[in-house]
Parts: sequence; structure tokens; C-alpha cells
Amino acid sequence: MIKELAPQLYQIEVPLPKNPLKATNSYVIKTAQRNLVIDTGMFREECKRVMDKALESLEIDREMTDFFITHLHADHLGLAGYLSSGNSRVYFHRRDATILEVPNFWETISRRARQLGFPGPELDQAIRTHPGKKFSPAEAIPFDLITDGQVLTFGDYHLECLHTPGHTPGHTCLYERRKKVLFSGDHILGDITPNISTWFVEENPLAQYLESLDRVFYMEVDRVYPGHRSVLKNCRGRIQELLQHHRQRAEEILYILEKEKKTAYQVAAEMSWDIVSENWEMFPLNQKWFAMGEAIAHLRYLEVQGLLENRLLQDDTLYWQRR
Ligand SMILES: [Zn+2]
Repeated sequence: MIKELAPQLYQIEVPLPKNPLKATNSYVIKTAQRNLVIDTGMFREECKRVMDKALESLEIDREMTDFFITHLHADHLGLAGYLSSGNSRVYFHRRDATILEVPNFWETISRRARQLGFPGPELDQAIRTHPGKKFSPAEAIPFDLITDGQVLTFGDYHLECLHTPGHTPGHTCLYERRKKVLFSGDHILGDITPNISTWFVEENPLAQYLESLDRVFYMEVDRVYPGHRSVLKNCRGRIQELLQHHRQRAEEILYILEKEKKTAYQVAAEMSWDIVSENWEMFPLNQKWFAMGEAIAHLRYLEVQGLLENRLLQDDTLYWQRR
């Protein structure tokens, strides 16, 4: 459950039961002065129990501990409020903080999803059981807002905040230049592909993501400490694989739309996914949701590239087609 990765640096595997991600990696930098916890797990009992126990066995004094949250998703931010003390700083990017403040967020998303073809009967359940809705902290956290390039120092670690939008608008990695170490959050993962998705067709998160990958590509990194699964050594190689993955996805979508216009939901149903399921109808609802978000991000990217266009028809449904 706890691994010592280097002097002063520990990894806690926080379980995410019944979630294909399996676990979130929380990292602890323990120093003689203040400690830093990077990402926390979801706001749910299974995560609380493991984090409480791990921090206790590492003898982490919460009054002397700060938090860095790579992005707004519940599996990273979930326990920040619960674990922090009145003396803790919780570092977080402004762009993601803004999203947490959007009023009626889920109602807006729900309206968008319907317009994009997500079937009504499934929609309410998909939102009700969405981990972001179920396992996010109930109360607002007073964040210490960070900016790109800001350096946070904990013991031997001089951590540069590296704004890497894509997975979320405010996603931020931490880079230790001297140690050549990157805490990558969900920007770079090894065994799975980071989910790049949106429900807002005016955004273009995939373009941002590809740019953010480029940004890291040229940096010297010997170790990537990701938000999920195993530690990576070949950062550049993995970035090339991720770039290739999205290129293939984009090509697949162009092929799917070759003959006729389709909704994002219809496109997602025809894309190939790694999930073990007989067909799209049998897909777990939450996975359908993430798949569709990913389809929209790619559709939008291709649209900005001038290869697709979308049209809102009279039935208030948005279709994409080749240009
Ligand atoms: Zn995550």
C-alpha cells in the first residue's frame, strides 16, 4: 500500500473499488519542516480509511502538511478538504477552481448531453451515478491558487508548477528539474490512456492536450510519477504513443462519418474501445459517458481543423458530418 520511491518520497495506492482506474496514486514528500501530499483519492470511505492509515504510519502531522491537487476530478481532489488541517495550504489551478464554482454544473452538462444524442432514459442514471457527482467533497475548499512556473519547495524538492491543460482546463503537473522527476497527474499515464473529453462544443481540449504533451516532450524526465497505475521511465516514448493514439482515433472518426451525419453518441457507439463488453448496448453506463465525452473532444478537434462541421437540427440534436 505504501512504497518508498526515493528518500523523502512515498507513494500511497488509494483504492477505487468498482472503478476501472482501480486506484489513485497519492504521493507524499516528507521533510523535517512541512510535508506535501500530491492528490488524495475520492471522498468515500474506502479511500478515507487507506489515506488515514497511511498518513498515520508515515507519521505525517496534518498541521505541518500542505496539499497539491493536479486537477479537479474526484479521484484526485476528493479528500483534500477532509485530510487538510486549518494550517494546510491546498494548491490548485485557477482554471479548475473556476469550474468547481459553476452554478448548476450537472444540469448544464445534462442539457448538453441530450443535445449531443445521449438517450434520455439513460441520461439521468448516468449523471446520478457519475463518480464526479458521487465522490466529490460536499464543501468548497479554500484553495491557494497557483500559476504556471510557480515553484513550491519541500525539503530537497523544488517543484515547478507546469500548467498542462487537456485532461482538464487547469490540469497542472509538478516538475523537479534537478531530479528529472515529473508528477504527471492524469496528463501522462502508462498503462491506460488519459481520458480527453468535453461536453462543451465550443472548447477544444484535444488541441490543448496535444500542445501540453509537446511541452513535456522536450523536458528532461527520468521518472514519471502518474496519478494512476505504474511509474514510467520512458516519458518521451510514452508521449509518442499517446500522440499516435489520438491520431488513430481522429482517423477512425473520419471513417465513421464517411457516409452520413451522426450524433456524438452514434459516433462513440461505433468507435473501438478497450472495454470488455459484447457490444455498445452492454457497455457500463459510466463508461458510455466517458466514451462519448472522448468522442466529442475528437469531433471538435477535427471540426477546428476544418475536416468536419456540425449542425443543430430542428429536433435540437447536434449532428456532425464531413466537410
Ligand atoms: Zn484520475
